[in-house]
Amino acid sequence: MSELERHLLNARMLDPASGEETTTRIELRIDPLTGHGSRVLPDRGLMPRSDFDLAALARETAPTCPFCAERIEHLTPLWPASIEAIGRFSHGEAVLFPNLHAYATYSAVSVYSPDLHYLPLAAISERLLADNLATQVSFARAVLAADAAARWASINANHMLPSGSSLFHPHLQGIVDHHPTTMQRLLAGLAAERFTAYLDAERRAGERYLGNTGAVEWLVSFAPIAPAELRAFIPGRVSPSQLDTALTTELAHGLALALGAYSEMGFESFNLALYGAPADTTGYMLNLRLAARSNLKNLYRSDSTFLERLHWEGAVDIAPEHVAELIGDRFKL
Ligand SMILES: [Zn+2]
Repeated sequence: MSELERHLLNARMLDPASGEETTTRIELRIDPLTGHGSRVLPDRGLMPRSDFDLAALARETAPTCPFCAERIEHLTPLWPASIEAIGRFSHGEAVLFPNLHAYATYSAVSVYSPDLHYLPLAAISERLLADNLATQVSFARAVLAADAAARWASINANHMLPSGSSLFHPHLQGIVDHHPTTMQRLLAGLAAERFTAYLDAERRAGERYLGNTGAVEWLVSFAPIAPAELRAFIPGRVSPSQLDTALTTELAHGLALALGAYSEMGFESFNLALYGAPADTTGYMLNLRLAARSNLKNLYRSDSTFLERLHWEGAVDIAPEHVAELIGDRFKL
């Protein structure tokens, strides 16, 4: 099987103005790891740049925000002492506490800072990311120590409303549970060779490969399930609980580069998932997906359609190779 499987689809039609036959070419690509399909469409302007006044929305939402410094201690829950004696985890300015609206046995929210209610993508620095990721690593370790069967950890983000975030104040979300999510289950079931073969194929192809920041490999997804989707792989690590300070900092460096590039592309909303597996999963490679989401706008178009939600099939009009061109050599050391 080819690592980078693609099929050309030709959609023929008669042009409504000229009556001439025209053909639209669509590339159907198959994800080398999970087998998900992705349709790479001609550029149709489906993801317009942000022209929304985020600062105004920040001012509007701040007075009642439960994650802001004036309210965070009174309005957010605490962990039971079996997880964390002082109830919250913190590193630098970042603070992690239980998600009031839990999605899992252990469901965490971590703000970059109680003082940063307004944090556009260009301002999410390596330091803010490293501190926030560090709270998630501490949380995953504490849960594992308290409940050894909770072995499936992930670090995630819904950033801004279009990505699924119900609160404006920027934050990450952690999940640690006894059961995997669907994607964790799919990825953890792969043989070690699948990860190395994919990385080798992308290094050889070059056009989507972004670089290695030391211990982390970055590339643009060959078959994205969401717009401008990037992936990172951390060989030799399986769970977020295994990230030491150096790796957390390196990962934060890469994420800051990626979010800076998104900002330049005009995006202000994203999803992130760092998919962990149980620490003893042989051959698993800790990996993440980062994807842009539609911008806030009145009567905006969602980038998640029947294809993504119900067929598990991506459809993007920004070619992955164009995303790699826009990101350029910023990941190259
Ligand atoms: Zn806030």
